[in-house]
Amino acid sequence: MKFAIGKTFVKFLCALSVLCVGNCVWAVDREAFSITNYDLTLQIDPSQHRLGARGRITLRNDTSSPQKVAVLQISSSLDWRTIKTGDNAVQFVTQPYASDIDHTGGLSEAIVTLPSPVTPHATIDLDIGYEGVIALDATRLTRIGTPDEVATSTDWDQISSNFTAIRGAGYVAWYPIATEVANLSEGDSLFEVLARWNARESGANAHLNVAITPKDDEDEVPELILNHPQCDVAYERMSRAEHYSADCRYERLGPDAPAIIIASYSVLERPHINVHYLAGHEVSAANYADTAEKAATLIADWFGAEHEKAQAADLPHDDQAPFESGALLLTPLINSSQAGLSVAHQLTHASFFSPRPWIEEGLAHFAQALYLEEQKGRQAAIDYMSLHRTALNQIELAATTPDAAASQSLANTVNEELYRSKAMSIWWMLRDMIGDSTLKKTIAAYHPDQDKDPSYMPRLISAQAHRDLEWFFNDWIYRDHGLPDFKVESASARKTVNGAYMVAVTVANLGSAGAEVPLAVKFKADEVSKRLEVRAKDKATIRIETPTVPLEVIVNDGSVPESDTANNTFKVEPPTQ
Ligand SMILES: [Zn+2]
Repeated sequence: MKFAIGKTFVKFLCALSVLCVGNCVWAVDREAFSITNYDLTLQIDPSQHRLGARGRITLRNDTSSPQKVAVLQISSSLDWRTIKTGDNAVQFVTQPYASDIDHTGGLSEAIVTLPSPVTPHATIDLDIGYEGVIALDATRLTRIGTPDEVATSTDWDQISSNFTAIRGAGYVAWYPIATEVANLSEGDSLFEVLARWNARESGANAHLNVAITPKDDEDEVPELILNHPQCDVAYERMSRAEHYSADCRYERLGPDAPAIIIASYSVLERPHINVHYLAGHEVSAANYADTAEKAATLIADWFGAEHEKAQAADLPHDDQAPFESGALLLTPLINSSQAGLSVAHQLTHASFFSPRPWIEEGLAHFAQALYLEEQKGRQAAIDYMSLHRTALNQIELAATTPDAAASQSLANTVNEELYRSKAMSIWWMLRDMIGDSTLKKTIAAYHPDQDKDPSYMPRLISAQAHRDLEWFFNDWIYRDHGLPDFKVESASARKTVNGAYMVAVTVANLGSAGAEVPLAVKFKADEVSKRLEVRAKDKATIRIETPTVPLEVIVNDGSVPESDTANNTFKVEPPTQ
């Protein structure tokens, strides 16, 4: 039945849906359809905080049965205006749907009755229209007790005259999505819902046309930035609007949800980075660009030439949390004391891509440690990694059951603490185990399009290292066996015939994850260091020679994450003759 829908009818059904809170009428599978293509024309009016969207989307039935009902969701501050197939209106009802996937903590949901069932894997095109305002709103955070200032420094998305930034799925549903409820007060719920959505969108394309209504009183043309290197942004001033035809093909829409930024930026262009900065931040911007140019050699040495140019874009307030999307970083440039760490991370993304977070983000954080090592030495890098370990230790305490071990494995985790902090330490350990040049060769041999299996990267590492590291991958990557706990069990010394001393050190690993760990024997004025492989729930012994009387043994210089470091030192027993 073709159904022309009137506003009154929509209101009636909305009222009906309010009576039906729960699962009565709308027991629908919200994740039945993926959206495989977006072709949207956006009109943004910054002074009114308004967004209007018209366009066509393509839905694909991802289930194994025909589907007659599709769910489309946009931010709760936007309203559905039209949904049609071709020239025919389709029947739909709208209802609010509480979900923390949007900054407002809610979605405007359209439940669409399709003209005929869509068979499994088949697609249907829908012509859609929606509009509304996108103002600063951190309801999803404040309602779980986050103080206002903290909440708005995280959820800073908004359309406004001074600064417009709307990040996509996970922040603002300014384009349609289709997800089950995400709840910030329930552990990883939001991250799991978002990870599922990203996975379903990983092959989706998007084409966006953006027009911006100018401020009445200014000739100033703001800059439009989209988080995609292959966006052709053309500018044309029409009678009533700044017209940007941003022709972007988001080929991996999943991990890089589209984001739109509109601000009066000036741009500093350097060989390795473009820095888009706000008025008054010239000095910070120059500092950021200089830092990037200096770090570029180190990053290229490890991760190869950049495949796209890094972009840094300024955020207006110094407390706003940075946001990254591939090689684009939004950050308050005024806080450029941490510029080195930021650029090392960002330039790594510009050179290297993996669809797997533990590789993509793990290596970018590892690059930060490499940068610190180059600037200030190995200890500075280890100290930096240690800073990230408090939260990690708490997570690992929970990872003692077999279920947790499998579900939290690095290869499939959605937990940022794991795929960022833990992965950083794992890359550092691998580097210590196989050496710089071998790890660099592995990184150069990695091709994201061939990464179809979690074992792809581990196999590349083993092949380059000519070493059996399966035990390490099992404990750290395929499973989460928690952290090692090294204990020096004994250290005894004897004098050798040439007048030196030989210390025999036995180290136990009380934890369930094995590692190769540095071991130092101190003597007057200096120390000797070796590396020792100690498998999980096992012991290993090593002999180390010192020129004078050995005094103390210390296992783990901090480069291996460990659950308990209180038992890592041992006074060497007085040497026997
Ligand atoms: Zn990153």
